[in-house]
Amino acid sequence: MCPSKGDNSKVTKRLLDCVRAEDTVARQGGDEFIIVLNSIGKSIDAAKVAQKILDTLELPFCINGNEFFIGSSIGIAVFPNDGSDAETLLKNSDVAMYHAKENGRSNFQFYTEGLNKSFHERQALSLDLRYALARDEFVLYYQPLFSGVDNQLYGVEALIRWQHPERDMVAPDKFISLAEETGLIIPIGEWVIETACKQINAWQAQGYCVPRVAINLSARQFQDNKLVSNISRILKKTGVESKYIALEITESMLVDNIERVIETLSHLNEMGIHISIDDFGTGYSSLSYLKQFPINTLKIDRSFVRDIVVDKSDYAIVSAIIAMAHSLEMEVVAEGIETEEQLNILLRQKCNYFQGYYFSKPVIASGVERFLRKKAQCVNKLKVIHSKIRS
Ligand code: C2E
Ligand code: MG
Ligand code: MG
Repeated sequence: MCPSKGDNSKVTKRLLDCVRAEDTVARQGGDEFIIVLNSIGKSIDAAKVAQKILDTLELPFCINGNEFFIGSSIGIAVFPNDGSDAETLLKNSDVAMYHAKENGRSNFQFYTEGLNKSFHERQALSLDLRYALARDEFVLYYQPLFSGVDNQLYGVEALIRWQHPERDMVAPDKFISLAEETGLIIPIGEWVIETACKQINAWQAQGYCVPRVAINLSARQFQDNKLVSNISRILKKTGVESKYIALEITESMLVDNIERVIETLSHLNEMGIHISIDDFGTGYSSLSYLKQFPINTLKIDRSFVRDIVVDKSDYAIVSAIIAMAHSLEMEVVAEGIETEEQLNILLRQKCNYFQGYYFSKPVIASGVERFLRKKAQCVNKLKVIHSKIRS
């Protein structure tokens, strides 16, 4: 592939442009290179780097005024599943590379068949996702949240699902990251906001009181210059008051470009929109930053709630989050409550609001209505525990 020293350095330069500073690019000899990616989050992310490398090597090389084209094949072995030492990883990436060569020019293969499958699955979903909005395949589910003060419905969280024509209902964790990568999250996100607003109107028209609808924002949406104006436009168009809307963002969205984050959050806050930090406790946001932002609510990640009954550290972390939030005049939602024991502890810890399968799974809009008609059931669950705590 690369017969002379000069040609090799051109290939090497392109390879280096595809990886991060902490990664390693080495020439194994002949036309073989080894690339070590130290910082990928998920195994499947190696596919993104591999595709980037294939794309860059497909471009012509200009040598002595002539254009040359090369083909390349990539084999991927992932630590530790495909080998826990360098020798095994190299051997297995070699096996995968020969597999890639057999498949024709310019492709990559994982050593593990399961990863090849999930990569192709993602590719197929990504293609279908482009048409999903136009084909009206998305649907919003709503999961209720309850208040520990009056035992009443505090609001609902809107959660998107994709009714794929040939698959079972696709959950958001299967397609939100794809929508982020492709930029489709912007129109999909607008659809979510508009659909939630229309639903608020429909509930109000039928006499149902849903005090607030929480909408999840992904990082790309939050960084979009037009976010604030798009939300204003949708509120105006649907006539929904901003007090009915909460936006859920995650800690990781707060850490990049602080001035910009403060500006966006301040605009939303001035509009009267409620801001919640979702999955709180899992990111790395500096606590001292928190008070700089106009944040109303922290939602404790459900991984802490899951083991709160048996794990002393989770118990302590939840207590600390609630105490800190209250001292910063924020309210706290616990998500992922599945048992009475968990709810009992959270009520004693003075958590403000509660969400989880113990009360209700996410349901379609009519499910919320049904639920509001017989809300006594859930309200009773809270009342019973409250009275147990008092006695
Ligand atoms: P999230 O915002 O943290 O939503 C809570 C997730 O936990 C939901 O999963 C919900 O169904 C699940 N959950 C709630 N209570 C329980 C419980 O008691 N036990 C267990 N095991 N799970 C519970 P879902 O609907 O699959 O959503 C996953 C994530 O996808 C959401 O996490 C959110 O980050 C994202 N997402 C959902 N809808 C949207 C959307 O419209 N836009 C964006 N950007 N992201 C969305
Ligand atoms: Mg959420
Ligand atoms: Mg969450």
